[in-house]
Amino acid sequence: APNKTRPGAQQISVCVRKRPLTRTECRRGETDVLTTPSEECVIIHESKEAVDLTQYILKHRFYFDQVFGEESSNEEVYQRTAYPLVQHMLNGGKATCFAYGQTGAGKTHTMLGSPVRPGLYALAVRDIFAHLSTTHMNSPLLVYVSFFEIYCGQLYDLLDHRKRLFAREDGLKVVHIVGLRDVRVDSVSSLMEVISQGTEVRTQGVSGVNPLSSRSHALLQIQLRDANQQIAGRMWFVDLAGSERASDTKEDRQSRMEGAEINQSLLALKECIRSLDQEQSHTPFRQSKLTQVLKDSFVGDSMTCMIANISPGHLATENTLNTLRYADRVKEL
Ligand code: ADP
Ligand code: MG
Repeated sequence: APNKTRPGAQQISVCVRKRPLTRTECRRGETDVLTTPSEECVIIHESKEAVDLTQYILKHRFYFDQVFGEESSNEEVYQRTAYPLVQHMLNGGKATCFAYGQTGAGKTHTMLGSPVRPGLYALAVRDIFAHLSTTHMNSPLLVYVSFFEIYCGQLYDLLDHRKRLFAREDGLKVVHIVGLRDVRVDSVSSLMEVISQGTEVRTQGVSGVNPLSSRSHALLQIQLRDANQQIAGRMWFVDLAGSERASDTKEDRQSRMEGAEINQSLLALKECIRSLDQEQSHTPFRQSKLTQVLKDSFVGDSMTCMIANISPGHLATENTLNTLRYADRVKEL
């Protein structure tokens, strides 16, 4: 597997997670087009038709820092993706973990999970509280969370009835989200309570009718603060909007606008992550709201992990290939 050699390059890791075929996909007779021959390799078997109409299979092979097969648990994915980021945060650093992929590929399963299979949010906070309970006895650190979404370039607070929020850059070019609510949590269960309230707000959407969750980015921030409210570590978990093209879905004007906005933000995100170990003067933070609010994550001593989630079904082949190509570009030198 190709490894980065530039200084700081180990700060970025790009991983792929394949989910199993769902029961519905099996019932519809979908076939699995993905194989994961090693911990770093994934192969997608694309069916093609030749000019003489005979069928053949084109194999595309990709290498990443980690490839998780369908049997991988959230715990295993956590240990090899977010865990080092959590350690970095506990040492006072900044970290960002993204879940990328088309709608239905497993982003929310990875990030949020379920009560029996907790996802990265809960596993990270479990480790944060475990760490805090054994250290910092004299000057305890406090844990704060905020949770908001970006839909069509606008920010909505998921912990405050979807209140509209605004990002402002101050004189020192630091981006602030004005009015963002943050909630202090003192246990994994109180955090999960806060997140599930936010998630409920998210899936209800703006009108209360339309579920928009696949068309919005959800950003959870966890901050450690000392008794003087000084930040002593921070971490973002970003459940990105579905990466499928707008043309795959409904073609009405609203959907096309959403799609264009999402494409723009995912392209800007790729460039910003790539710039992490490059010259930073041309980093396009301002090309999308997503990268603008995450600006601080793309500068300085920051660790980043992207988990590209992929669906195994043959009907998803094109989207899966796009996801693999995107992830490949993120880590490419
Ligand atoms: P996304 O958030 O990317 O749209 P979801 O996380 O909602 O996708 O996953 C779509 C469906 O697939 C859900 O029913 C989810 O429970 C299931 N699923 C996703 N990943 C896995 C996995 N690794 N193992 C088992 N089921 C999964
Ligand atoms: Mg989701």
